[in-house]
Amino acid sequence: MNQTKLARFISLVSGCALLAFCAPKSVLAAGNVLIIADEMPQMELLVKILKTRANTTAELVNQTDVPADISGYAAVFAFVHHALLESAEKPMVDYANGGGKLIVLHHSISWAREKNKYWFPLLGMHLTPPGDPEQGLYKYVNPVTYTVVNLAPGNYITSHNVKYEGKTSYKSSDLGTPEQEYPSFTLNNSEVYLNHVFTDGKDKTILMGFKWQDPKTGRVWMQDRAGWYKKAQKGWIIYLQPGHSITDFENSTYSQIVLNALAVKLK
Ligand SMILES: [Zn+2]
Repeated sequence: MNQTKLARFISLVSGCALLAFCAPKSVLAAGNVLIIADEMPQMELLVKILKTRANTTAELVNQTDVPADISGYAAVFAFVHHALLESAEKPMVDYANGGGKLIVLHHSISWAREKNKYWFPLLGMHLTPPGDPEQGLYKYVNPVTYTVVNLAPGNYITSHNVKYEGKTSYKSSDLGTPEQEYPSFTLNNSEVYLNHVFTDGKDKTILMGFKWQDPKTGRVWMQDRAGWYKKAQKGWIIYLQPGHSITDFENSTYSQIVLNALAVKLK
């Protein structure tokens, strides 16, 4: 090896040594947050929001491409609309039970999930087949304009840097408190879900409720189902009901709540 080659070799070796020294202990494949989805435009926007407002790199994968072990991620978002494949379901369930933070968005709770073995038992949820909501059956309605109220003032997820548009009079479906005003924001071109049923008693901490007036019947629906969190075996599950359209994520109040779900330290 002549002098020049030797110098290049030394430079290469020391460069590699420096890289190895500087690299974090556990290097993740391509991001520190994983988003598992089957509908991309809303999640492509979320990737940008995470990058620009939380300096977080997110890896967006189709639910067909979920690795069996996703335990290395700081958080995992679920945004699956159609049938949830067991090859995506099982890693997410294991992730939450193993100590991870699973952030479940919008239609990741839908009627189709009743066919999954692990998903609703983990979430403590039940949905009937879609039908007449006046009979207590599940129903999804879109497009709608509906209002989300903060039922957990002081909670980090619903309060840290969150600016509410105004206040809305709301009667909690679960808290037994009289109708009163809560901080609120309104989403357009969105989708509302009626009659989500909890199967785990009081295990969930309620964050947000929704208020929607059915233009056909005039009936006003107010249910404490727009956001909650609960403990898994070792980890946590956070559910946020908005997310139907890109405009939901463009709403700065809602996107801050999503960022807070990522940042919150739950105990
Ligand atoms: Zn939707």
